[in-house]
Amino acid sequence: VAASAGRILGGVIEQFSDIGTEALRRGPKTAELVARQIVRDIVSRGLSAGDVLPSEATMLGSYRVGRASLREALRVLEINGFVTIKPGPGGGPVVSQPSSRNFGRMSALYFQFAGATFRELAQARLAMEPVLARLAAERRQVEAVSALKTLSDKVHAAGNGGGPYVESASLFHRLIAAASGNRILGLYTNATQDILEDRMAGTRHPPERRQGVHAEHDLIVEAIVNGDADVAEEHMRIHMTKFITYMERSFSHLLDEVVDGRWVAPN
Ligand SMILES: [Zn+2]
Repeated sequence: VAASAGRILGGVIEQFSDIGTEALRRGPKTAELVARQIVRDIVSRGLSAGDVLPSEATMLGSYRVGRASLREALRVLEINGFVTIKPGPGGGPVVSQPSSRNFGRMSALYFQFAGATFRELAQARLAMEPVLARLAAERRQVEAVSALKTLSDKVHAAGNGGGPYVESASLFHRLIAAASGNRILGLYTNATQDILEDRMAGTRHPPERRQGVHAEHDLIVEAIVNGDADVAEEHMRIHMTKFITYMERSFSHLLDEVVDGRWVAPN
């Protein structure tokens, strides 16, 4: 029944467009289906990083697939950071915590294939970061706000420091992403930041500009604390525009480069 429904639906869609009909006829690959089922089971059983998945024999039985498909499914999950495969006797798949870096490395392949540049990546951040700041201010979640204030206090206590500057500047944007409460925008933004940061290492702002960066961060935190979404969004837009202007002035050759996943370091 499903197959004939698929054929009928495929026929209907074909009248309008060729796109997608081939995929409809074939259906998803077995390994992809199994990968999805494993993720569903990890989530529904409340498993987290370090938890051991059932043995291969058990999974072959419960997912009713061949060994090759199961192994392919686990490999897909491993590449994407959802499981690690412990080798040897007593080994097997173990749940792990995927990070924005996994997502970033995979995304970078798409960007590279499309010929997208680091400039486009920076522009994507310019589009997303102000929205995250707005959401953070609207939500004003207690823990997220206090994490931002703690970071701001630490930066002030450390003065206009050189060493911890990169870490604190990077952490600020990750805390904003978390504070937004939108896990999809947060993941996209963090992955974009991963790809950019790893390529742009060594292009950090000169010491005389760092105080300015922290001052801009402080204005954004203040707006979030006050729950002023318009101000938070606007200050973030100004902040990101300054970042791109600085990059264009001093490192435009890097922005011209096509994105390449080799810049995203493993977790
Ligand atoms: Zn910043």
